[in-house]
Amino acid sequence: MVETEGPDVCACEQCPALVESRSRIVNGTGRADAALLFVGEAPGANEDDQGEPFVGRSGSVLDDALRDAGLARADVRVTNCVRCRPPENRDPHAAELDNCAGFLEREIEAVDPDLIVTLGKVPGERLLDRSVAVTKETGSVVDVRLGGSPQRVLLCLHPAATLYDRSQRGAFEDAITRAADLVGAGSGDQARLGDY
Ligand code: URA
Repeated sequence: MVETEGPDVCACEQCPALVESRSRIVNGTGRADAALLFVGEAPGANEDDQGEPFVGRSGSVLDDALRDAGLARADVRVTNCVRCRPPENRDPHAAELDNCAGFLEREIEAVDPDLIVTLGKVPGERLLDRSVAVTKETGSVVDVRLGGSPQRVLLCLHPAATLYDRSQRGAFEDAITRAADLVGAGSGDQARLGDY
């Protein structure tokens, strides 16, 4: 049984392993009409606990980069390819991504963003329907058709990649700044000058 309300999923039991591992369904949060839509992979333990995407350490990395680009979390929308926490934080299986794909498509359609930013390899490959070398391709912009409508996608590292490898932080921040610039949001340089 699947129940939705707007872009939110209220009930869904399509993926037995995820129904078992989740405490709740984690829907997208933020502006319903955001120019920027960030798409991650799947909720982790913190997100499962709090019911919001990117609230753990990855979320802090994302929030810091947004702030440096002159944006706040409330200015954007953040969601995931899969809305339930996979057991032991494993990658979502292809069938789970397939089961959740329609929900993401509906959310993209409802928000109608100017730019989608994929956070990590899984959402990048899902939306582009090809393999993605995420370290190399971070910051690149690709025009795709999703559910019949044209969408612009900016590929970006997963914020957690910057926690495993500090040297990735610059590329991650640059990609987020590029995203803000592309939609004419934020205040990039001003925000950085304001730090001094
Ligand atoms: N990683 C993700 O891909 N999504 C989240 O919501 C949290 C961590």
